[in-house]
Amino acid sequence: MEERVYNFSPGPAMLPLAALEEARRDLLAMPGVGISILEISHRSPTFTGIIEAAEANLRKLLAVPDNYRVLFLQGGALLQFATIPMNLATGGAKPAYILSGTWGNKAMQEVKAAEPTVVWDGKSTNNNRVPTQDELDVPADAAYVHITSNETIQGVQFPVEPDVGNVPLVCDSSSDILSRPVDVKKYGLLYACAQKNAGPAGVTIVIVRDDLLERTPAELPSMLNYKVLAAKKSMLNTPPVFAIYMVKLVTDWLLREIGSLEEMARINRQKAQLLYDVVDGSDGFYEGHAEPDSRSMMNVPFRLADATLDGPFLEQAAEQGLASLKGHRSVGGCRASIYNAMPVEGVKVLRDFMLDFCKNNK
Ligand SMILES: *Cc1c(COP(=O)(O)O)cnc(C)c1O
Repeated sequence: MEERVYNFSPGPAMLPLAALEEARRDLLAMPGVGISILEISHRSPTFTGIIEAAEANLRKLLAVPDNYRVLFLQGGALLQFATIPMNLATGGAKPAYILSGTWGNKAMQEVKAAEPTVVWDGKSTNNNRVPTQDELDVPADAAYVHITSNETIQGVQFPVEPDVGNVPLVCDSSSDILSRPVDVKKYGLLYACAQKNAGPAGVTIVIVRDDLLERTPAELPSMLNYKVLAAKKSMLNTPPVFAIYMVKLVTDWLLREIGSLEEMARINRQKAQLLYDVVDGSDGFYEGHAEPDSRSMMNVPFRLADATLDGPFLEQAAEQGLASLKGHRSVGGCRASIYNAMPVEGVKVLRDFMLDFCKNNK
């Protein structure tokens, strides 16, 4: 096999090796079936078993209550940005947005039919933190409140979800789903594209409370209509078979090798701390972006105080098998994305490289 590098890409991101190995086997023929996972009918008993197992794994890991549906949809998180207001901001109620970074802003831009209310906006401090509870004044009659639990570009994460009273909380959890336990009961709708933490690109997981499906206007086209999609169990048309299959393998891995999201969160905290400790201990050689209380456990953006060192840093990192550390064009510098599948050893190799690079260039 080709040597695998440690891939710190923000997404599509690393997948667990065990899941890739299983997929490689099934790419030619699934045992006992004789058909590749790429060729199998979505109506076959084999695939029905796969999609049901993927859902059961998600329900188990996230302790999803019975009054929530789990959907596997297409179009990425971006399509949900538009689909959510179409389905939930009905009857004249305005949706409300808490903005802590790039993705929340993009989500709000896709609201076309109603005028969204901005509850809080982190732009005056360059999106370096999430709001405190007393900064939030959520209109009681809002259709829903939208948050981005982890802003992938700024590396800003809610340590716990804000209290939004009785207004349904809607959360883009694309870059931290399955990274830690969440209390699904606190949400009206939770969604995540798969390609950061749950699988490959091509499928988006939507977990939605039953009663919210009653809001969907009947005239919505069926591919955008949560009520129809839920009634058809995500099989209104051909679903992204391979991507759903990979979500099953990734969640199998979580259950089998990690055991629980509590344990996954413990490992993720440990990984993130290794890197934040280097930044904090570097005497200003490295600069972080987020305030300590809002720091992401998934994406660690940092700058080199001397920006002319960015190039050599990235080049020398790549030579050591540390790939995709370039920061987002809007923030600059570097970013280490350390999702579930990034092993602790990979983060330790990066930590050691950062310490050496600092020593040699200070
Ligand atoms: C990656 C990402 C998206 C975009 O997802 P697509 O599947 O490309 O539409 C949206 N929100 C967050 C928080 C992300 O990290």
